[in-house]
Amino acid sequence: MLDQSKSEASRNIRALCGHCCNCWRALTDPISLERGIGPECLKHKVDAICALAAEGRQLEIIMVLTGMPADFVTAVLNEVTAS
Ligand SMILES: [Zn+2]
Repeated sequence: MLDQSKSEASRNIRALCGHCCNCWRALTDPISLERGIGPECLKHKVDAICALAAEGRQLEIIMVLTGMPADFVTAVLNEVTAS
C-alpha cells in the first residue's frame, strides 16, 4: 500500500514536469521535455521573438511580451542572425 502511493506520487511529479509551460499540454519527446515547451508553442515563441526583433524592440521588451527568459530570447536571436 505504502509503496504504491509512493510510486504514484513520483509519477505525478514526472507528469507535472512533462508539460508545456505555455499551453500545459503533455510533452513526449526528450528535447521538448528538456526545454519545458512543446514544439508548436516553441515555434510560436520564436516567431513572436523574430517579429518583435524585426520591429527593433529591446531584449527586455521581447522578454516581457513573450514571457520567455533572457537566455532563450538571446539564443533565438543568435540563431536567426547566424542563419
Ligand atoms: Zn505548448
